[in-house]
Amino acid sequence: MHQLYINTIGCQMNVYDSDQIERALTPSGYSRTDQLEDADLVIVNTCAIRSKAEQKAFSFVGRLAKLKRRNPDLLVGVGGCVAQQEGEKILARAPHVDLVFGPKAIPRLGRLVERVRLQGLRVVDTEDTDGFEELDLASGFRDDGQVARFVTIMQGCDNFCTYCVVPYVRGRETSRHPDRILEEIRMLVAGGVREVTLLGQNVNSYGLKEDLGSFAELLARVDRVEGLARIRFTTSHPKDLSDDLIDAFARVCKLCPHIHLPVQSGADRVLKRMNRQYTRADYLERIGRLRRARPDIAITSDFIVGFPGETEADFEQTLGLIEAVGFDGVFAFMYSDRSVAPAAQFKGKVEDALKKERLQRLLRHQEVFTLRASKGLIGSFQDVLVEGFSARPGLAGDHAGARQWSGRTPGNKIVNFDQDTDCAGSQNVHPGLLIGVRIEKAFTHSLWGRPVWVEEKPGGSKGDTCHAA
Ligand code: SF4
Repeated sequence: MHQLYINTIGCQMNVYDSDQIERALTPSGYSRTDQLEDADLVIVNTCAIRSKAEQKAFSFVGRLAKLKRRNPDLLVGVGGCVAQQEGEKILARAPHVDLVFGPKAIPRLGRLVERVRLQGLRVVDTEDTDGFEELDLASGFRDDGQVARFVTIMQGCDNFCTYCVVPYVRGRETSRHPDRILEEIRMLVAGGVREVTLLGQNVNSYGLKEDLGSFAELLARVDRVEGLARIRFTTSHPKDLSDDLIDAFARVCKLCPHIHLPVQSGADRVLKRMNRQYTRADYLERIGRLRRARPDIAITSDFIVGFPGETEADFEQTLGLIEAVGFDGVFAFMYSDRSVAPAAQFKGKVEDALKKERLQRLLRHQEVFTLRASKGLIGSFQDVLVEGFSARPGLAGDHAGARQWSGRTPGNKIVNFDQDTDCAGSQNVHPGLLIGVRIEKAFTHSLWGRPVWVEEKPGGSKGDTCHAA
């Protein structure tokens, strides 16, 4: 066996793609290692969405030169969005890199690595092929104990937001056939996975171009997969949020009540320059519809601060939107120029110091709402899918120092609970079980509770109730 080390930078798409890279190389005798020094092949799966992610990728690639000097047989590959964007230039910039490949070349990776290994060639494959190329599922997936996995349902994007590189590096939107998606989910479930997150840049337009059925129809089919406990998805574009999808939150049993709906800015001027194709009022109207369909829905979002031309008044409108929605959580980033994206040419660039200051203000402003959403759950009973042990022991009170299990609520909030409790069945807790937890404490980024029932076996009935509801 050869050892494969993958460094994944960026979003969930890349996490999924790294699993696909591993799967593509399994038939060539590669198995994944967590030890960089043991690797025969190192792949950096890069992200081009922000300049920081790109710098991180090149800095890691640079460090590999030393490793290759010590081990001349080591092969170095660069994949992902930066590879797609830069292609041959990476070979010139980093002479120790053997292989550069874009996201669409993953199904061809076995052959590409063989050419490098056996023929000693330096290879670039950034071809933007049409359609969704499938990997053979026969090589299965590495069972690393994860009970929640990503499943890609589409690639690329047709929206052309002015700050974004995705349409240029991941190509036009292409949907995957629903039968292949279901086949992959069934395989994951057979291996112990209980939650899947369906991935696409804009899941609302799933299947429309290819006439494969709508995203809501796909959700209904995934809902019927036996043994699967939960469905999530990301990402949904506010302009395309359909009534069907909103209804799905009320109808599809396994669909978790959480939506990540990136708004980016609360100012119409900025939204227009970003080419987001909705207004602040449109966004708020959709939030209202979602909450009417599913009153307990958790809503999270993305923001970009310091977009070219963003004024103080624009930024204050963003803070106002945060207040108006009361998000459960947000991700916020400072705008950075991406050379292939149109906004790189826009006038009115915002100074870095001001961007930093706005980012801090936005995060401080949001913290109040994140904590409010968490505190609102105190006293409630939540179904928690156990994912593993918490990285940190209990913080305070009667559970200080205790080893804790960690999992997520349907609304995607992290819940920790002590390993040793008096709840019947809690001695047999393991990742993949659903536990009923009474929430007793709320922190900004997690909750703490006591188990009240433990599922007897995955997919089985609720076990004993040891605390009165
Ligand atoms: S919707 Fe906009 S931000 Fe999202 S991937 Fe497409 S172009 Fe990028």
